[in-house]
Amino acid sequence: MVVFDYTCIKPFVTVYNRLNMEDKLCPECGKVIIGRADKKFCSNDCRSAFNNIKNRNTNNMMRQVNSTLKRNRDILLSFNPNGKANIAKAKLQTAGFNFNYHTNSYTTKVGKTYYFCYEQGYLELENEYYSLVVKQEYIG
Ligand SMILES: [Zn+2]
Repeated sequence: MVVFDYTCIKPFVTVYNRLNMEDKLCPECGKVIIGRADKKFCSNDCRSAFNNIKNRNTNNMMRQVNSTLKRNRDILLSFNPNGKANIAKAKLQTAGFNFNYHTNSYTTKVGKTYYFCYEQGYLELENEYYSLVVKQEYIG
């Protein structure tokens, strides 16, 4: 009977296991994660580094969206100091208004949709004109 001596191949088995397809890699440094099955990073340092970058990217994206919405709101307000006005689309565009960003919208029973940047709203009219409105509920 041959007794298999496991100890001499153990280092190779270990290396092989670490290259197994089921091994999870650390998303920060790419090393194989050793330890509990639910471990997501190889170390606390890698978890911190990964989450810091993720949060920084999220914060940058949110800051950009917020500043675009605020700029839109300020542009609408500048053209609508009295709460009601009509304005050519070109004037809004020249001022840097971004039509892709609004905080909310409201569609009337007759199917007209007002778009708002906070309390400042606009409704598309004919001939590339917009009607500007202010939503009073948001004030105060
Ligand atoms: Zn790592």
